[in-house]
Amino acid sequence: MTAFVTRFAPSPTGLSHLGHAFSALTAFEAAKDAGGRFLLRIEDIDLTRCRPEFETALMEDLAWIGLDWEKPVRRQSAHFADYDRALSKLIDKGVVYRCFRTRKEVIDEIARAPHLAVDGPEGPAFIGAPLDPLEEEELVAQGAPFAWRLSVSRAREIAETRTGALQFTEQDIDGGNEKRIDAAPEIFGDAIIARKDAGTSYHLASVFDDALQGVTHVIRGEDLRAAAHLHTLLQALLGLAAPVYRHHALIRDETGKRLAKRDKSATLRALRQGGAAPADIRRRLGFAR
Ligand code: GLU
Repeated sequence: MTAFVTRFAPSPTGLSHLGHAFSALTAFEAAKDAGGRFLLRIEDIDLTRCRPEFETALMEDLAWIGLDWEKPVRRQSAHFADYDRALSKLIDKGVVYRCFRTRKEVIDEIARAPHLAVDGPEGPAFIGAPLDPLEEEELVAQGAPFAWRLSVSRAREIAETRTGALQFTEQDIDGGNEKRIDAAPEIFGDAIIARKDAGTSYHLASVFDDALQGVTHVIRGEDLRAAAHLHTLLQALLGLAAPVYRHHALIRDETGKRLAKRDKSATLRALRQGGAAPADIRRRLGFAR
């Protein structure tokens, strides 16, 4: 049997709820069905929003519903140097540029010049340009904070000369109906690859770690379906192996609304304190076994 490695990669910014349980169980059960491996990865590059106590609670909650995972667990906050090296490769290839703008300045710029944005999966996505080198040098010398943006058109060009047309493989959530999809990373505009505050981004850290950890199947919510387009480009640029993607539907409440972190009643803690047993949670999420 070919190797099958999948993962659940939460960001511990709050207590986990039914949506997290569903996502984790989906990946866990897929690994079990395939006789493969299941990893838990803590995506905590956002040091202001992620907290150790949420990580502890998350692990307790996942164990309570019957999951186990390989140890040690990779915690992204311990590996900033890895993401820095990956960023350096992109800098050397000339596919990223410094962006000194604040979020507000980007929004104002898009309002002034709408052609500088595309309608992306996360709202308007900016397409910028490197600054004039002298101006840039001056700002760097002054210590002005900056993010690194991917020059998406240049990046695609360089990636495609190396690997040919950019495509990724997607399967239905049960592993059937495999398709090759043309990647359209342009939907993210010139995405931020290294944030001002973190020196990396979800996209860079996640793609790097999936390859490092030998993840063969990325199984996550359909809210992240679009991310595969950008991740495929980053994999090609960095020479990383590309996993197969599967996307699961999102758990909704009784009114059909997506569960949000603020729905306190749906946290695994609240359900447990209210007397629910792990089997009740699994049944409610459609995992009868
Ligand atoms: N850490 C991301 C999140 O919490 C998920 C990353 C992934 O599965 O690729 O939304």
